[in-house]
Amino acid sequence: MTAGRLLAALVLAGLLLAFPAPAAERLHATWHPARPHPGDVAWVHVRGATDAATIEGALGDRPLAFFPYAGGQAAVVGVDVDVKAGSHPWRLAVVEPGGEPRSLSGRLAIRRRDFSVQRLTLPTAMVDLDPETERRAVAEGDRLRAIYRTISPERLWRGRFVRPAAGAEPGTGFGARRIINGKPRAPHTGIDYAVDRGVPVVAANGGRVVLVAEYFFPGRLVVVDHGLGLHTLYFHLDSIAVADGDLVDRGQVLGAVGATGRATGPHLHFGAQVGPARIDPTTLLSLDLRE
Ligand SMILES: [Zn+2]
Repeated sequence: MTAGRLLAALVLAGLLLAFPAPAAERLHATWHPARPHPGDVAWVHVRGATDAATIEGALGDRPLAFFPYAGGQAAVVGVDVDVKAGSHPWRLAVVEPGGEPRSLSGRLAIRRRDFSVQRLTLPTAMVDLDPETERRAVAEGDRLRAIYRTISPERLWRGRFVRPAAGAEPGTGFGARRIINGKPRAPHTGIDYAVDRGVPVVAANGGRVVLVAEYFFPGRLVVVDHGLGLHTLYFHLDSIAVADGDLVDRGQVLGAVGATGRATGPHLHFGAQVGPARIDPTTLLSLDLRE
């Protein structure tokens, strides 16, 4: 080797030392909010993983579904209304194409939230069901829960979620412990908007209509699948303007407010689920993902 070639080789080696091949960036997970409450929709942002990475993860025993986000990946997480306050473990496993698995774990503090108690008096026939109606209501509840557990692979929503019925009044009643005709019943897991019959009901974000039905408690209803396990629900409708399988845009009319099913008067019951987690839809309306 000539002195010139040796010098060139040394310079090249020096350059390689100065600019080493990029090592995998350190994994980092940020939770938003940092300390959620029962009923909150939260999200976790994973940096140090490319959008081509496969990420599997869970909060407690609830699996997380990731999508590419802001140079890393993110997953929307539902904190069920009945989750106990305290420290809950989470874990992530990240595999880059052709890379070694990496893992990350930690604990998420869930803060306490106290819910109101709501006492209602309803016609006996709407509360103490005859056996046939009871069977129907149970089957309908099972069908809804099966839909909520369906995690379709494509994210169909973007940006902000919008209020599904016009008006200024905040929705009420999420998480209320219900005492109906003197007996404790399941908590109320949506919010109620007191709006007049006939007011248009719109999709809170982009998605696919996965259920149009008339059920005993919810009345005429629409369920929209936004992808990756997130669903929104619209109950007690007077009329429905969409069909099963329709793709809808944010703000697209789904139907009109009514009082069908078990309702004491016209209102929209708006619910949201992340998998089986029942979440406060008002927290969905303030979800702060930018893209
Ligand atoms: Zn309701």
